[in-house]
Amino acid sequence: MTRPASAPAPPFCPNPACRYHTQPTGDWRWQRDGTYQRQASPRVITRYRCGHCGRRFSQQTFRTTYWLRRPELLPIVFRRLQGCTGMRQMARELGVSPSTVMRQTARLGRHCLLWHERTRPRGAVSEPLVLDGFVSFEYSQYYPTEFHSVVGAHSHYVYGLTDSELRRSGRMTERQRGRRALLEGRAGRPDPRSREREVANLLEIVAGPSDEFELWSDEHQDYPRAIRRLRGPRISHRVTSSRKPRTARNPLFAVNLWDLLVRHSGANHKRETIAFSKRRQSAVERLWVLAVWRNWIKSFSERRRDASPAMRLGLTDRRWTTEEILGQRLFPSQIGLPERWTSYYWRRTRTRQIPNGAEHCSRYAA
Ligand SMILES: [Zn+2]
Repeated sequence: MTRPASAPAPPFCPNPACRYHTQPTGDWRWQRDGTYQRQASPRVITRYRCGHCGRRFSQQTFRTTYWLRRPELLPIVFRRLQGCTGMRQMARELGVSPSTVMRQTARLGRHCLLWHERTRPRGAVSEPLVLDGFVSFEYSQYYPTEFHSVVGAHSHYVYGLTDSELRRSGRMTERQRGRRALLEGRAGRPDPRSREREVANLLEIVAGPSDEFELWSDEHQDYPRAIRRLRGPRISHRVTSSRKPRTARNPLFAVNLWDLLVRHSGANHKRETIAFSKRRQSAVERLWVLAVWRNWIKSFSERRRDASPAMRLGLTDRRWTTEEILGQRLFPSQIGLPERWTSYYWRRTRTRQIPNGAEHCSRYAA
């Protein structure tokens, strides 16, 4: 049996049902169970077997690149996602199929969601929070979606996001109105209370144990309703007109800048693009990657190469690299996502026009 002498002890049993999954104690017994060869580096992988539940696993089980045929692409895809590349462009450039890029993107999204949950601040909110909705669409312009984000007014840290389906509104021709009625007859209408509910969901997650905090937003009438839905903290709500110039002096600057970054970095949210998201589940996954990059990797000012939002918030004392963020596979069973975000992890966000789409990649979501 070939066994690399350096094969380390496994950190825990990967079986969520095993008692040695979350808190492996000193009495955990496991055995080495041979090795296997793979085409990508490192080539020789040690296998193990849990002495308690019998689950077989390997060194690969604990890497973010588990089961990937092209593991070296994962950090490249991570970087390109911020570089405003469409999935097909990226696939052509890397010499792989678009579905490979899409699969890796989905995996990065889930990983970043877990990363965010594991690292986000847990105490009371320590700065005013800025709330905004970023409107895009999925599948076609008949299906607008809004991504709600909460960003720190001083740190510019992205605290979290949720999304809503919206009904197409605004100026439409007679023909477009007819088409909307036809589509709504077929697939139903989005819930008109979705924004209110989803903003409340988001505020509840980011509020944590806070007794009170300040929330700054534009004058959207659904926001006070969302605030009233919250049972926990007292929120003092400060409203700024959305007509006010969007300069650095605008109280909503932090979130305006984030919206700008979303449009600037992601090809799927450009105006008049063909790279728009076909499903908002995928759009959300890209946003989680962007949020982690923004919070932990990117400097506040590109020119000055200064502190990241996570540093400004005191969560770390340095900027992280993509490789560090992707260093270790994270397990949802160990991290415990808030319920609303669990549905992002398991890809349960439905696109009305693609009823079976949600299951499409879920076998990779283990
Ligand atoms: Zn086990």
